[in-house]
Formats: sequence, C-alpha cells, structure tokens
Amino acid sequence: MELLKERIRKDGKVKGTDVLKVDSFLNHQMDVELFAEIGKEFKRRFADCDVNKILTIEASGIGIACITAQFFHCPVIFAKKNQTKNIAGEVYTSQVESFTHGRVYNIIVAKEFLGPGDKVLLIDDFLANGAALEGLAKLVKDAGAELVGAGIVIEKAFQPGGDRLRAEGLRVESLARVKGMSEENGVEFVD
Ligand code: 5GP
Repeated sequence: MELLKERIRKDGKVKGTDVLKVDSFLNHQMDVELFAEIGKEFKRRFADCDVNKILTIEASGIGIACITAQFFHCPVIFAKKNQTKNIAGEVYTSQVESFTHGRVYNIIVAKEFLGPGDKVLLIDDFLANGAALEGLAKLVKDAGAELVGAGIVIEKAFQPGGDRLRAEGLRVESLARVKGMSEENGVEFVD
C-alpha cells in the first residue's frame, strides 16, 4: 500500500537493527484518516471471506481493528493481557512472548464472544516473530471458530514470523513489507 509506505519512509524511526517506531501516526498519536485507508484495503483483500468477527490484541491493535471493522460491519474483540484472576472455564487462554518487552504473558478472550460458526480475521499493527498472531490463532482454534486470515499493517519480512505462518497455511496480508532497515539508511520495502 503506497500511501502507507510513503508515511513510513517519512515518519518512521528505526531503532537499532530491528525496531521500527511509528509513534507519530500508528502507535501513540493515531492518524485515523490513514487508518480508514488501511481498513478499506483490508476489506478489499478479505472481501470474499464473510468475516463476522475481528480479533486483535491489546493495546496497539485496537485502533486499527476498530476502524477496519467499520468496513466489515462486524464487532471487534481484543484479547486481554495479564489477567490476574483466571476465570477457569469461562475464557480461552494462550501465551505470547512479547517482541518489544521480551517477556511471556497470557492473553484471554471470554468464551461468550467467540465460538463455532464465527469467521475470524486477525488484525495487528506489526508482524515480527509471529508470536502474537500464533497466540491469537490458538484462541480461535480453541473456540472452534474459523480463521480466515490475518491483516497486518507492517510486516518486518526479514524476521521469521510471516514466512513461518504462511508455510503453516495461514493467509497473511501485510500492507507494507519491510525487507531491511537501519538507522543510517532508513527502511527498504520488499516491493
Ligand atoms: P511478534 O509477536 O510477531 O514477534 O511481534 C508482533 C507484536 O510486537 C506486535 O503486536 C507489535 O505490537 C510488537 N512489535 C514487533 N515489532 C515491532 C516494531 O518494530 N515496532 C513496534 N512499534 N512494535 C513492534
């Protein structure tokens, strides 16, 4: 998606070799007009899938997922992190290793919101090693729902998550695929 790539080139900030900061339009301040274009593009790519639920993970996926859901006319569920009281039996749970913080945390979704018959699209801001998407995919599987695919705003294609998940059969649609990046030269895209 050219508009997104231009924005990343203009406002993205590379930290070290593997972290891209996009706080000015995606992860802190949010450009909701850009989000609307992103949502339209996800709808175009998954138009044939009869999506009836969008699932994301708190916190940074929520804004994108909500704007995207307006184009699918469906609700958004966000998996919650760090549930202290485990309400056994009432929630689906899985574990995710955080890319940005390096620790493992639990994510949960209440069983009442996800079940057989649901056609679920995963939405997230970044794809790196794939742990967040795998954790979300497990919740969908445990619920007996159908996983139609994943819509990602920025995939760091030089990290292994995207290739592995596609090889496992997940349909992953990324709107900007980063081939490589450095603080000196900025971001280079796959296409
Ligand atoms: P994964 O689970 O695929 O390793 O990482 C994806 C998650 O980590 C995303 O939900 C995102 O919040 C965070 N993440 C991974 N890489 C980056 C990055 O380069 N920049 C930012 N801002 N977040 C990232």
